[in-house]
Amino acid sequence: MQERPSREFATGIVWFRRDLRSFDHAALYHALKSCQQVHCVFVFDKDILDHLPRADRRVEFIQASVVELDAALRALQPTAGLITLHAVAAEAIPALAKKLHAQAVFTNHDDEPQALARDAIVRGALAHAGVALRTFKDQVIFERKELLTQQGRPYGVFTPYKNAWLKKLDAFYLKPYPMEKYAASLAPCSAPQPVPSLQALGFETTNLASLKLPTGASGGQQLLDEFFARIQHYHATRDFPGVKGPSYLGVHLRFGTVSIRQLAAMAYPLHLQGVEGASVWLSELVWRDFYVQILANFPHVAEGAFKPEYDNIGWEQGKPAKALFEAWCQGQTGYPLVDAAMAQINQTGYMHNRLRMVVASFLVKDLGLDWRWGEAYFAEHLNDFDLASNNGGWQWASSSGCDAQPYFRIFNPTSQSEKFDAEGKFIRRYLPQLAKLPNAAIHAPWTAKPMELQAAGVTLGGNYPQPIVAHDAARTRTLLRYAVVKKPNALPEA
Ligand code: FAD
Repeated sequence: MQERPSREFATGIVWFRRDLRSFDHAALYHALKSCQQVHCVFVFDKDILDHLPRADRRVEFIQASVVELDAALRALQPTAGLITLHAVAAEAIPALAKKLHAQAVFTNHDDEPQALARDAIVRGALAHAGVALRTFKDQVIFERKELLTQQGRPYGVFTPYKNAWLKKLDAFYLKPYPMEKYAASLAPCSAPQPVPSLQALGFETTNLASLKLPTGASGGQQLLDEFFARIQHYHATRDFPGVKGPSYLGVHLRFGTVSIRQLAAMAYPLHLQGVEGASVWLSELVWRDFYVQILANFPHVAEGAFKPEYDNIGWEQGKPAKALFEAWCQGQTGYPLVDAAMAQINQTGYMHNRLRMVVASFLVKDLGLDWRWGEAYFAEHLNDFDLASNNGGWQWASSSGCDAQPYFRIFNPTSQSEKFDAEGKFIRRYLPQLAKLPNAAIHAPWTAKPMELQAAGVTLGGNYPQPIVAHDAARTRTLLRYAVVKKPNALPEA
């Protein structure tokens, strides 16, 4: 009989969180190598779920992906499977370790402040019981302080960060973790329980199924295959919301149903071959790493501006501000591209990147509202909501962030529309009441002739709103509002 190699621990647990796959998984790999037997667990964390609306596409996505993860673990080892709990994770993990007599818990890093606080509690409780908590980098290529400037500081500007990222990248960082050869260490699931249904978790079914957003690792692979057939066009198509340009992999990256190493390893050789679409897409993956390290190294961004002087800006307040915000949320601003974009997020949980920039700029620089209001709305509605990227995107749009656009750069929502949705294809899809307007009028219906509006069946102030602000006047107000951030030596001479 072959002897099993001796391992550091007899029993270990892998705690899955934002990494819902059984392949190329850092914590699972390390656990399988270090433990005689490994139990796998996912906790539907009440600390998170209890604060969400009862219909939430993300919970549905996670539930379906967890079902698939359970099956994938069984495919690796037929007697294995996933333990699923519906509990407060900070309490459930130490309790499970005790119940299973585990000596170590393995999990992947999550550098969001709330996750770090939760993990600190778990680490303390486990340590008290003599159980180790081992954590690993998994969701990014480079994290925390792996890339530093020559002065030994974290990067705050993207281009030098990207250059350092590309310089450090080699085959080692792209290598997948091999799982199959260690799968025999997956522990048998003694009393397998089915993954709780959405209803059992206290949630309602959403329209996810009708959105053609495939879930789980199989869904991630499907989108990846589709995208790699068109990646060479990405640089040319990615800015046009009416075109199938981007990968739509955001939600899969968020929940780890794809592996970042797999994605980067596919794009990198194409980048080296000079395929422009692949180079631009790889850059987007680097933006993702960039914002994750910003959040890890400058956690104050979760609450306030990266550049503290931007916290002195006086935003609109009170009832009128609330009314403007409500109009923005409901896609009732009277600017068709903004309203179509808000309809997209409200109906699908996705919003095209160009439109995220347009609506964010509109909220902050046309409506004069605090960027944190928009950030919170996105956090509630985006399927791919990720604190680091969302915060980075909002701080970029409001100019308060690291490497953000300058405060005096203010998107004109009408010219953005003319440029990126010239024929109004996207607007017509999400605002059918405007579908019959001619191209020249669809970007700014208030400029259309009464005859044109009538022929298209559009009544301004009736089935489509008048603009809630005049862009030029708003622009002037914004420049005044932002005057507080001008450095003293940048002020004009008196
Ligand atoms: P692709 O264009 O196919 O890009 C591939 C992947 O690269 C994305 O899935 C994402 O992981 C990453 N990526 C692309 N652009 C960016 C970027 N600017 N910053 C960081 N990573 C990027 N992205 C999120 O993942 N979650 C968010 O909550 C989020 N909120 C945003 C808020 C605002 C105001 C802005 C301007 C951008 C935000 N982004 C966010 C970045 C970007 O809009 C989305 O990642 C992208 O639209 C997702 O679609 P995709 O997967 O088809 O992207």
